[in-house]
Amino acid sequence: MSTPLLQQVIDRSAPIDDASPADLDVNFGLLDEYSKREIRRAILTAVAVPGYQVPFGSREMPVARGWGSGGLQISLAVVGPDDVVKVIDQGDDEGVNAVNLRRLIVSSTGIPESTTPEDSTLIQTRHRIPEDPLDERHTLILQVPVPEPLRGVERDMRELARMHAEADYARMWVSLYEDKVRNGVITRTTGYPCLVHGRYVIATTPIPRWDVPRLHQSRFLSLFGAGREKRIYAVPPHTDVEPLTFEDVPFEVEITPGAQCRSCGSSESFLVEVPATAAEGGGHWVCSDSDWCRRNRQRQHPSNGVEP
Ligand SMILES: [Zn+2]
Repeated sequence: MSTPLLQQVIDRSAPIDDASPADLDVNFGLLDEYSKREIRRAILTAVAVPGYQVPFGSREMPVARGWGSGGLQISLAVVGPDDVVKVIDQGDDEGVNAVNLRRLIVSSTGIPESTTPEDSTLIQTRHRIPEDPLDERHTLILQVPVPEPLRGVERDMRELARMHAEADYARMWVSLYEDKVRNGVITRTTGYPCLVHGRYVIATTPIPRWDVPRLHQSRFLSLFGAGREKRIYAVPPHTDVEPLTFEDVPFEVEITPGAQCRSCGSSESFLVEVPATAAEGGGHWVCSDSDWCRRNRQRQHPSNGVEP
């Protein structure tokens, strides 16, 4: 891990009592200082040991567990007065969950919000990484429902701890092999298991396979928070993230030949299918990243004045 990054996290660990805007009657970032410090300590451990799941004392939040409370606690623990926040749900800034989480972060800190990654520093997300390239200025915070990548092959907590401690991932390999033999391809689509820094296997949350290669040697810090399961893990910048696969079975991202976004025409972004309806007829594809799609339309037709 590079020194500037460590310094950045340590700086954010400093007390920020005096940063509370005067007109707020809650703590800056809602959490009390003790909670923030505990979560930051877990984050520091997670950054120091990439891919290792660090237990933390998950707080009760004003959102139900399973609705992004882990990601929210990380965001509120690391947010500073100079940050700009973007929150997406499946790539969409206007998803109900995203709107509520963003409102909570903004109203408890007074920091500005944005939908554009270029203008943001903290990006909290469920199930996607924005299409735009992210860099050292960004911290990506992912909401994780199931942090344990081996849950499908083992349920006993002690055995799971042993498997991670001894890097004994044989059963994971066997399960991928069985999947391949049975189905002809590895059918895992979201949350694809990856080996981080050659040591720990992580669940890449339910991000699609499309986004997995973007975690490898990324320029940004990724923090994963699971509120219900009380775990935090991290992929620091410039870290190897290798999807588990076999030498003769290349890792492939989702591509539907011929599919194009109906709004912007892109075939280069991650597309989601909108099912057919009685009113509109046949189904179609649209970009999952709604802000990227809007800007892509604007680039093509600058004079049309696409609404923001
Ligand atoms: Zn589009």
